[in-house]
Amino acid sequence: KPPVLAVENLKKHYVLGSSWLSGETKTVFALDGVSLSIASHETLSIVGESGSGKTTLGKVVMGLIPATAGQVHLDGRRIDNLSAAQLRPLRRDMQLIFQDPFSSLNPRMKVRDIIGEPIVNFGLASNKSELRALTAQLLEKVRLPAEAADRYPHEFSGGQRQRIAIARALAPGARFIVCDEAVSALDVSVKAQIINLLQELQNDLGLTLLFISHDLAIVEHLTHRVGVMYLGKIVEIADRRSLFRAPQHPYTRALLSAVPVPDPQRRTTRIALKGDIPNPMNPPSGCRFRTRCPLAFERCQHEEPILRPRGSDGHLSACHLDELPVATASVHDHRKT
Ligand code: SF4
Repeated sequence: KPPVLAVENLKKHYVLGSSWLSGETKTVFALDGVSLSIASHETLSIVGESGSGKTTLGKVVMGLIPATAGQVHLDGRRIDNLSAAQLRPLRRDMQLIFQDPFSSLNPRMKVRDIIGEPIVNFGLASNKSELRALTAQLLEKVRLPAEAADRYPHEFSGGQRQRIAIARALAPGARFIVCDEAVSALDVSVKAQIINLLQELQNDLGLTLLFISHDLAIVEHLTHRVGVMYLGKIVEIADRRSLFRAPQHPYTRALLSAVPVPDPQRRTTRIALKGDIPNPMNPPSGCRFRTRCPLAFERCQHEEPILRPRGSDGHLSACHLDELPVATASVHDHRKT
């Protein structure tokens, strides 16, 4: 069976207008050669700072913006080369949940119509009573009372609005959902509730999730695998246990060292990153992380590291230090359990 999502060498470059002084055009390398796949019922999280390209990845995968190069396959079918009209029926299978439920829900529509719209658009209800029944089922799935249907988005809290957004994404029967910072705007306890809901729905409905987040701590509780992005590239990808217990890439180690760990026995020394993520218009030569990497050495300036197998099955990391034997390049064990 093919993976639900397969992305091959995906690139998104934005060419900006030429400078009248020099006549040069500028290119933003938002996504620069990303390959990954997600199996059915799996959650892959993509983590990185703002400017890493993770949101662009979600949008290109969803067909909201065209790729510059590379391919996207959904259930084995290539979709990046489809027209908007050809993509439309596939929207039943793939949906996007945004960070901000405040702006992604039409304030003038009742919840009934927000959730009912995709049901009507895809012709999934043959009459009004069927539409009502389907809407009520969806509200129940996201743990909202049936009365919510007759209210407007502004009458709900942030967490409740995100539940409405999830119900809308599920309405056409989507099996693959991209969650772009879907819980980032919520309070800590509400975040946990929405994560739990997504996990329950994944189990009940067999969903496949691409979960995009800047927060490694959130991802740990919901994901099966994690990809870490930096300046348009995946620098490390591994299953959750392997990535959190034995991170290989210096960037991943720095991100993990900033995650609060309650148990003092499991804390590691904070690795401070120098400066901000560089401008994707002018990425550093060689390893893109070298300007902030505490372990950078001469080779990192002129040679770009590629993703190589590291440690356990499927654990890949792109760092020249990874070519050293595992024992020599041994990293701290971030989490002992
Ligand atoms: Fe750091 Fe060099 Fe590894 Fe890049 S290749 S992460 S600069 S050590």
